[in-house]
Order: sequence, then C-alpha cells, then structure tokens
Amino acid sequence: MSSKRFIGIDLGGTNCRAALVSPQGQVTAMRRMPTAMDQGLDRFLLRLERVCLDLIDCARKDGCRVLAAGMGAPGVIGEGGLVKVSPNLSQLNGQPLAGLLGQRISLPVTLLNDANAIAWGEARHGAGRQFSSFIALTLGTGVGGGLVLDGRLWEGSGGSAGEVGHIMVEPEGRPCGCGSRGCLEQYASATGIVLSVREELVAGRATELARLEGGQMTSDRVAQAARRGDSVALSAFVQAGRRLGQVLAGIANLLNIDGVVFCGGASGSLDLFGPALKAELQRRAFASAWQGMQIASGTLGEDAGIVGAADWALRRDAVILS
Ligand SMILES: [Zn+2]
Repeated sequence: MSSKRFIGIDLGGTNCRAALVSPQGQVTAMRRMPTAMDQGLDRFLLRLERVCLDLIDCARKDGCRVLAAGMGAPGVIGEGGLVKVSPNLSQLNGQPLAGLLGQRISLPVTLLNDANAIAWGEARHGAGRQFSSFIALTLGTGVGGGLVLDGRLWEGSGGSAGEVGHIMVEPEGRPCGCGSRGCLEQYASATGIVLSVREELVAGRATELARLEGGQMTSDRVAQAARRGDSVALSAFVQAGRRLGQVLAGIANLLNIDGVVFCGGASGSLDLFGPALKAELQRRAFASAWQGMQIASGTLGEDAGIVGAADWALRRDAVILS
C-alpha cells in the first residue's frame, strides 16, 4: 500500500512555494516559483500546475500517492475555494482559485486565508498543540492573524475573522491601506517599525540608521541597531510591543484564550518587543485573562502555512470544479 501525501501551497505576493507533506506534517519535498501575478492569472496557474505535477511525479517515485492539495492565499476566502478579495493580488478577486487549480491537476483543492493556514499548521503540528484556543500572529508587510478556538479554526461568518492587523490603536493615526487610520499593522508590522524610525528621523532624532539609504532600511536592520543600543531603533520596537499589547489585552478580555503564537520572522524579535507587550497586557487585561495566556514562538518557521494548508486539505471535503 502506498503512503499518502498532500500538497501544501503557500501563495505570497512575490513567491509561491509548494511542497509534499505527509499526514504527520513532515515536508518531504519543496518547490519554489515566482508568483509574478502581473503576467496574468492563467500564466500563474500554468506554472503552478507544472510545479504540482512535478511534485505528484516526485511522490510516485517514492512510492507515495498525492490525495489532495491545500493552498494558503492572501485575502478574504469564501465558500467553495473562492477568493472574495485579495488587496495585494487583485488578479485573484472573485476567482474560484481552488477549483481552477483542481481542474488542472485533477485533484481536490482546498483554499484558506494565508494567516489562517499558518495558525492551522501551528495548531496541528507546531507550538499551537499546547493550547486549546490561541491566536497566531505574523509581523511582515502587514500583521496577519489566525484564530483557533477550542481546536477549531475560526474563519468567521464571511471569512474575514482574525484580521488583527486592522484593529484600531490610534483613532487619528497613520493612514492604512484598508481605508481606516491607526490600524495595528501601521505600527507593529515590519513596515510599521521602519515607518516609526522614519518619523523620528524627520523629527531630527539622532540614530545610526540615519546613514542608511531609503531601500536599505528594513526591520532587520532596525532590530540590529536596537540590539546595539540605538534608542530610536529600540523605541520603534517598544512602540510596536505596546500596540500589540493593547490589542492582545482586548482579545484576552474578549476571548480568554490560553495562547498567543508569534510565527515566522516575528518570533526572532520577540526579545525586543515582548517586554513592552507584556507590560501593556498586564496593565489593561483582567488578571484572569492575561495570567492564563502564554506567549510562545511558532515552531514550524516558514513552513507553517504549507503544513497548515496541506493538513486542511487532508481533513476537509475538498472542492473540484467539474
Ligand atoms: Zn487597516
């Protein structure tokens, strides 16, 4: 009898990764390709089809059979594998993405929001296993959130639950791409941290980051400067931590969840923003809410979304257009 495999796909704005994943959450083969959605959806699907067929072939050579594929994609995902809206990959808006890929590779395909795929990966095979209810957070271009309640992924009535990055922390604050102002991600994402430093530069504060050219300033460079004791760099992380703590205090009071899991690159700078986060959390949430809420780092790293998407395909009635 051949072993089972599932394809997990992590669709990002710049790159797309696809992998073979075992039912136990092990990644056994990985492929990468540029997303290049500006070349059109059809050409993207053709390239993804080739990658998936290559993985199916790879599984066969190992004596394994691929049963289904799961994909995590940025945006609001509706019933039946439909992308309702994807602000950064607008070519996907209104497209039945799961069915379109399923037709091409003759496999059932399921579709999840990318942050939800990460949360589900950590819930099934990572740091989330120790919690019954937790929120998974990623701090990248934006702030992504995925909510697992009582062991179930909470997608909400319209598929847009967990959008923590767009919870308001400053009523008249920085404008956000969502149309609102003062959203968490304008302060706590990698982009927001760089923005905080730029504001200080404009205000004339002294920092070693002043000598960096525009494109050289990244949250990693800010983190390095903060660890060397640069006060402007450190205050950008402290501000991010405070804002995260404010939002998590509200979430703790509302849901009394038992965990917060920082996923991907975010967990690497937890030492910089964690203390301010915890101080704010303790100041604003009920003791019974924050005392029971453990803060952890994800254990699956960059593979969390792939593992989560594959596991979702394993346990869901997948969609295929006939
Ligand atoms: Zn927003």
